[in-house]
Parts: sequence; structure tokens; C-alpha cells
Amino acid sequence: MQVVFLGGASGVGASCLAIELAGQWFVVDAGVRVDKKADPLPDLALLEGKDVRAIFVTHAHADHIGALPLVHQAFPTAPIYASRATGLLMEVMLSDALKIMNKRAMEEMELPLYPEGLVAGMLNHVRPLTIGEGLTFPELPGVTVQASRAGHIAGAVSLGFSASDGSLVVSGDISITPQRTVQGALAPPITRPDLLILESTYGTRLHPNRQAEELRLAQAVAEGIDRGGHTLIPLCGESARRTCCCPKHFLPPCNGRSAGATRPLPAGP
Ligand SMILES: [Zn+2]
Repeated sequence: MQVVFLGGASGVGASCLAIELAGQWFVVDAGVRVDKKADPLPDLALLEGKDVRAIFVTHAHADHIGALPLVHQAFPTAPIYASRATGLLMEVMLSDALKIMNKRAMEEMELPLYPEGLVAGMLNHVRPLTIGEGLTFPELPGVTVQASRAGHIAGAVSLGFSASDGSLVVSGDISITPQRTVQGALAPPITRPDLLILESTYGTRLHPNRQAEELRLAQAVAEGIDRGGHTLIPLCGESARRTCCCPKHFLPPCNGRSAGATRPLPAGP
């Protein structure tokens, strides 16, 4: 078993792993860095000379999928396995990314990372990954893959890989706490892996209580409505959009005001 970190190991962004198991290479995630001062891409040169047979995606955030079109370009026959929700969200997220790249190309002469056609071709190679079952794939003989719910955002999974020469779990981004639109993470698919690659973003921070934060936001919105005004809530993430804009899941009623008073505005740009 070999594991190569192409990004994301010592900072946030560009998460990308190359793994060799049972004599075959596969990739887990290929994201970008959103910090404009940093190189946006993982160190894709580390894939040079490796016969990547398959690609797995833990979830559809840009720091895990933003560089997938380039990995697909390098290994065009490798199928891309993702949960159904992740597959659907990838279409939205990568379409958003293309819009932003094209806008920056016009306004700042910044070269886009990839063209629209490459994204469409990549999305054609996405295959469904069933959650909960031990799976085998023709491209990776001798390797069993098991996905478990990771919380975090819709469709997010942790991935377990096992073969005769070892086993590992890639947690992806995980969230134990249930959210309004996403259930919390379940235990990883392999209980005693030889290697655990565990997300640790914000692991050293003290986190606010979610319910208290929801109530604080709801109170601020209610105060605005009581003054006869409107409240604009900028939401950068897809799950945040759904949590705040879906009437069924809206913030707790406050001062008699509730979701009926809200409506989503189109996301820019
Ligand atoms: Zn994430």
C-alpha cells in the first residue's frame, strides 16, 4: 500500500490523494485552493507515470472537486465514482466554477483552469457509488470499497478501501452533528484500518453551539422585519443556501416571524 498526498495535507484546499492498493493506483478527490494568492491546484505532477484506474469523490465542495476535470483529462478512461447527491451537486458546483473563471478571465485576464467542454466530458464519466455496501469494481480487482455517510453536506461520504495488502479509511470532511438538511456522520466503514486519513480542519478551534447561532440569526432577521426592513443573507455554500432558503428547513420562528417571509435571491455572479 502506498499513499501520496498531492494537496490538502498541511493546509485547507486542493485535497487530493493518490493511493496504491493491490498493485493498482486510484485517486480520491482533486480540489482547488480558493486563496487567490496560492497556486490553486494540487501537485498533479505526482500522478506522472502512475496508471490511475479510478477516481473516487468524497463530496462536492470545490476544495475536493475543483481540479477533477484536469485529473480526468490526464486519465480519460478512469471512471469517477461518487454518491448520487454528490454527482448532482458536482454539476452545480462546477458550473458555478466555470462562471467565476470566465468572469475573472474577462475582468482580470486570469486564465481559466479548464474549458467548459472538459467539465461536460468529465461529468459523463461519473458513476454512482452506493452508500453502505461493500463494492468491487472491474477497474480495481482485489479491492473492496465501502462508503459511509459523513454528514457535512448532502452526499458526503467517508471511504474505506481494503485489499490483501492493507486497508485504509479516508474520512473526507466529516460532521457528527446533525444539521437541518443533512444527518450526522456514521462510524467509518472499516473499524480497524491499517491507516486512517482523518479530516482535521478547525480541529483545534472551539465551536459555537449550532442552535444558539441559529437563534441569534433568527432574532436578527426578526428585528429587521419588525423595523419594516428586509434582510439579505449572503450564503456562499450550497448547503448553507438550502438550510436558510428552504422554507421547510428554515431557521426557528422568532417573534412570530418564520419562513413565509423569506425567499431566495439568485446566486451570483
Ligand atoms: Zn467540505
